[in-house]
Amino acid sequence: MREVHSEDVAVQLAYARQVVFVPGYGMATAQAQHALRELATALEDRGVTVKYAIHPVAGRMPGHMNVLLAEANVPYSQLYELDQINPEFPSTDVAVVVGANDVVNPDARDNPNSPIAGMPIVEVDKARSVVVLKRGRGKGFSGLENPLFYKQNCEMLYGDAKDSIVQLAGAVRNA
Ligand code: NAP
Repeated sequence: MREVHSEDVAVQLAYARQVVFVPGYGMATAQAQHALRELATALEDRGVTVKYAIHPVAGRMPGHMNVLLAEANVPYSQLYELDQINPEFPSTDVAVVVGANDVVNPDARDNPNSPIAGMPIVEVDKARSVVVLKRGRGKGFSGLENPLFYKQNCEMLYGDAKDSIVQLAGAVRNA
């Protein structure tokens, strides 16, 4: 896994054309939704297009991500379901995974022997670059390894999701 620091991620984000955020259970535990909205606003102020990919089982209850993002006043028009957002990743500069793990595990698509084979995923690995916000090497609900984290185009930004996003928002404003 390749570690990256928030200053470098902020530059990637600030100069992107399109950024897609992929929230998961870790966004909920960190209560990072308000900070995420602020980061999105900082990017939009620079002309970056921001979208959110909503996996139907992200988090721990149906509609979990929608509820949290609505609470943070994220416009509904920026939320995209899998079949809408997956075709956009090849033309997305940066996919930012915010405390999600199982819902972005490419083994579900690529490894027929995986216990989650066939589960639809958010195909962040097809983005030009992927940044994963998580605290460390913790597994997701399934307890499975995630080969996404070892891919060439993927970098890890370690820390609590809210802390990382607050730092990113500050750095984007100063970029
Ligand atoms: P996930 O696979 O459970 O992964 C969450 C990740 O968040 C963890 O790997 C963890 O890594 C990270 N994390 C935890 N606290 C964090 C924090 N404060 N800051 C940053 N990162 C943090 O989550 P998911 O991708 O959303 O997938 C949901 C899973 O739950 C699926 O397997 C789904 O089937 C299952 N499930 C869903 C529902 C539902 O209705 N939505 C119901 C039951 C089960 P670190 O420990 O390294 O930080």
